[in-house]
Amino acid sequence: MTDFNWTRDQFHLPQGMIYLDGNSLGPLPKMAPARVMEMMENEWGEQLIAGWNASGWMAQPTRVGDRIARLIGAEKGHVVMGDTLSIKVFQALAAALKLNPDRKVILSDSGNFPSDLYMAEGLVNLLGNGLELRIVAPEEVEDAITDEIAVTLITEVGYTTGRKHDMAKLTAKAHEHGVITVWDLAHSAGAIPVDLAGAGADFAVGCTYKYLNGGPGAPAFIYVAPRHAKTAQPALAGWLGHARPFAFEQGYDAGKGIERMRVGTPPVLHLTALEVALDVWDKVDMADVRARSIALCERFIAGVEEHCPQLSLCSPRDSDLRGSQVSFRFEHGYAVIQALIADGVIGDFRAPDVMRFGFTPLYTSEKDVDEAVGVLTRILRGALWDRPEFLERKAVT
Ligand SMILES: *Cc1c(COP(=O)(O)O)cnc(C)c1O
Repeated sequence: MTDFNWTRDQFHLPQGMIYLDGNSLGPLPKMAPARVMEMMENEWGEQLIAGWNASGWMAQPTRVGDRIARLIGAEKGHVVMGDTLSIKVFQALAAALKLNPDRKVILSDSGNFPSDLYMAEGLVNLLGNGLELRIVAPEEVEDAITDEIAVTLITEVGYTTGRKHDMAKLTAKAHEHGVITVWDLAHSAGAIPVDLAGAGADFAVGCTYKYLNGGPGAPAFIYVAPRHAKTAQPALAGWLGHARPFAFEQGYDAGKGIERMRVGTPPVLHLTALEVALDVWDKVDMADVRARSIALCERFIAGVEEHCPQLSLCSPRDSDLRGSQVSFRFEHGYAVIQALIADGVIGDFRAPDVMRFGFTPLYTSEKDVDEAVGVLTRILRGALWDRPEFLERKAVT
């Protein structure tokens, strides 16, 4: 059994704050500052260039990738870290399209995060050649998987409502029709159990600063199924994805397996912070996280529906169809979120009217949920959100 009192104690949570935004940025692991400082002083400071060998910096992207692999049901040796998620989406999509060269359609859904759609659009424009990005409603994805589709680019858990796709079912249908799958796990990794190998996923990507708590801008990950490891062509042919980077050859020769999905110099400081976060995850069972996440989400939904009739649930009510977040719609949602933040309850807002609350069992308790419902109730009953300072839009919502 996962000890959630222990996990909660591993994070710095500011006094008086109820943090329901771990789906956007996870909190600071208490051990991270000392470890990063030690790395800077003893490794960077003392070893300088020798640190690449002496401290294992060069192997860090695959070493960390293997630790992520456990959390997403990936085979060891098939996940590597680097770059940002948007870049990894591009990289996976480009490689996937190459595996299905006779087809012209990328299928995604309107619930996907805009950056994924923009990256796909950019790739379509770059490659030309009659390629098309087709966007359907999330409920229509299954029917839209046909022999015409080259690649599906689907985010398993949608960022606005937390709606969850059935990865195993959609992947099976895709394969029946000769379609390659790219799964975005931004709101899955560390949020729900994922079984990439079991589902037979072809490619997957995700970020580490949300549920995994790697810190703002922590590097992304990419997974390539073992059956594609030797054939997937890396469109971003950087030197560290080369078979022999230190031979400094003129021509590109893709590295072995997942190594070819590396691009350039890894962010060692940030990978070091992420490793501290993964030390916590090493002691966590994803089945326990899921059970507790469902309990917290259901408690929040029940409390809000009882006390805040102004809000309407826009997440799936059935927890099997939902990730680890709950969203409600309200016309004045932006101002309500600002009023909540001013009162120490941190959620976020997604245009036009969605109030989002992430539930992260590693550091969120039932008491947090009850207190958040209490504050929200007070703000709505007294219309405390209706003040000029809460209506003014900030750059990051
Ligand atoms: C958070 C998120 C991103 C963000 O991409 P970055 O390149 O890390 O900024 C992309 N896609 C999805 C689905 C996300 O949820």
